[in-house]
Amino acid sequence: MIEIEEKLSDCTSCTTDQKSVARCSDCPQFLCPNCISPHQFMRCFDNHKCIHTREYIEERYIEELDFFIKKASKVLNEEAFKVYRQVLEKSKNELSKELEEKHANKHLALMEMNSSIDQSINKLLDVIKFSERVLKNGNTFKILLIK
Ligand SMILES: [Zn+2]
Ligand SMILES: [Zn+2]
Repeated sequence: MIEIEEKLSDCTSCTTDQKSVARCSDCPQFLCPNCISPHQFMRCFDNHKCIHTREYIEERYIEELDFFIKKASKVLNEEAFKVYRQVLEKSKNELSKELEEKHANKHLALMEMNSSIDQSINKLLDVIKFSERVLKNGNTFKILLIK
């Protein structure tokens, strides 16, 4: 568990005049970022407990957050791209479906037109038949008259 050291002091472990970001509870020494690593990894400092300052923790936190945001935004971009592609695919499918429907409607309309033409032709044929009958009858009438 990391405890938070509130005070910021200069590093007492080296000569760089850097602000400390941690304090060792065993030495005790103030440690700058450069001095933390050896203090954490060198055998002579084995079991030394470094207490990080709030600033250092916040900095690491911001770095991690930044990394997370970059990663998340990359994932989000990929997701957005996927969604965009899905929308494109969907609209493409819908468009082709619409076109198919329009085509089908056109086909239907043509079929309707054909049937109405058929009906018209039938009606026309009826009229012709009627006319023929009338003419025939007329003729018959005329013939009858002549007779
Ligand atoms: Zn130490
Ligand atoms: Zn240092």
